[in-house]
Amino acid sequence: MTETTTAPEDVAQVEHNEGDEEKRTVVRTQGVKKSYKMGDIEVHALRGVDLEIYSGEYLSIMGPSGSGKSTFFNMVGGLDKPSEGKVYIDEVDVAQLDAYELAWLRCRKIGYIFQSFNLIPVMTALENVTLPMVFAGLTSDESRDKGMGLLQKVGLGERHSHKPNELSGGQQQRVAVARALANDPAVVLADEPTGNLDLRTGTEIIELLREMNEAQGVTVISATHDHKMLSVSDRVVWIKDGQKERIALRKDLEIETVHVEGED
Ligand code: ADP
Ligand code: MG
Repeated sequence: MTETTTAPEDVAQVEHNEGDEEKRTVVRTQGVKKSYKMGDIEVHALRGVDLEIYSGEYLSIMGPSGSGKSTFFNMVGGLDKPSEGKVYIDEVDVAQLDAYELAWLRCRKIGYIFQSFNLIPVMTALENVTLPMVFAGLTSDESRDKGMGLLQKVGLGERHSHKPNELSGGQQQRVAVARALANDPAVVLADEPTGNLDLRTGTEIIELLREMNEAQGVTVISATHDHKMLSVSDRVVWIKDGQKERIALRKDLEIETVHVEGED
């Protein structure tokens, strides 16, 4: 017997595009604004962003420094609250969650990768990767096995007992990628993941993220001003001065990327 029943709410989330592929929205922002008060001055970091992000896609958010990328990430990742507007993750309004539910969301649904790796210096690579699993309630044996598996996937199985300062920048970011995947999140948020890396290492990290996106079906949302990102992204959103300026599908960018690659 095969199960063919679809709950009505699933039908509501599914859209059909030209190719008739199913798209499920995993993140939706509606009129998201964020202002910071600095004494008498108000900085409008986000001026109303509407965006739908689909399950399984690799989306890059491009924009110059100060355009609001990290602010947008903090809203989507439940790390900060919009001044106005809504963020929905799996159609749940993040603002409606209590502290416990929000902690659960951050721990289980979302993986985070930052420009500066943000590993815990006194912990080994393996301990860094297994820490979120411990928070999620896995036993130490379970988390060790799973953590070793993830370190192997990112090519660092042999380095599990090394501390961050014994690893190169690229290796540290690989550990951070493994850590972001620790609890099988639906979404990985990567804020300028190549910002502290040289060209070759940065490219390797982008390719690793793309591999994880394809192999695990995890949605990757990456903020960047790195043009290398264009080639792996399914869609690219440009933001400028806290507003969405343009969205493009990769297939529509292919002609442009030829020029962009020449810059590197
Ligand atoms: P990006 O990540 O694209 O470089 P940010 O989201 O960090 O941009 O910043 C957007 C704008 O908001 C900038 O003008 C920045 O100075 C301002 N900003 C960001 N965080 C804060 C904060 N905590 N307090 C005040 N202003 C902030
Ligand atoms: Mg930023």
